[in-house]
Amino acid sequence: MSRRWYRHAAKVVFFGWDPGEQGFYVNVVDLCSECRGTGEVGDTEEVCPGCGGEGIQLSKMNPSARRGGLSLDDLSAEFARQELPLLDYMRADLEADREANSATALQEYELS
Ligand SMILES: [Zn+2]
Repeated sequence: MSRRWYRHAAKVVFFGWDPGEQGFYVNVVDLCSECRGTGEVGDTEEVCPGCGGEGIQLSKMNPSARRGGLSLDDLSAEFARQELPLLDYMRADLEADREANSATALQEYELS
């Protein structure tokens, strides 16, 4: 599946196209509260023990938080319901993923 994501407040929003499901998915995960998403302890290079350096709370990454098999309109509605931005260029990228049936796209967005 294509993997696209951005950080928003204390969350990471993962979304993309899943060729297996022939639909879009979204998964919202909380940032690690110990390192605030950096994956490191303070200003050191030490790996954060709370998340193993991932920067997100893996224990909370349960399958029920994931929504899949969505149309682009469904996905937009889900983002709206969770008050998350889904910008025009992200929608364009997602449409391109669907067109290409992409299983490999990988991109992090920076929200300003
Ligand atoms: Zn951490």
